[in-house]
Amino acid sequence: MSSTQNLNLICGCGQLLNIKRYRSVNITIDPELKTKVFSGAINRIQCPKCKINIKIDEPFLYQDQNQNLMAWVYPCESQVDLEKEIKQIYELDAQAMAEIKNRFGENIPPERFQEMSQIKMQAVKGIEQLEQLIGKMT
Ligand SMILES: [Zn+2]
Repeated sequence: MSSTQNLNLICGCGQLLNIKRYRSVNITIDPELKTKVFSGAINRIQCPKCKINIKIDEPFLYQDQNQNLMAWVYPCESQVDLEKEIKQIYELDAQAMAEIKNRFGENIPPERFQEMSQIKMQAVKGIEQLEQLIGKMT
């Protein structure tokens, strides 16, 4: 499922803005969001008063189960070190996997578990890099 959060922001011009922030986008379940992602409309709003574009400077998780793809999409201008970030994600992932196995190990069919651990977490900056990533996979 895609996960969202409503945020209230105050624009530089004083206008109160309500923005729907996506923390994750699952295009297998919500295919209509794909266009929104690739047009750059995710986590962005235009102030109705001064027309300025406001972007939320935080990553969202792009998920496509048909391609076994999970990628954190950071803003292009983000200063984050992707390699470091991925390493951290993997460490967390390994922990989470161990935890899941511990708790639900007996209830998860082995093939499902294998499927889960095959999803490679990735991280990119900007939509262009996401497109390249998907291009490489198809
Ligand atoms: Zn404004």
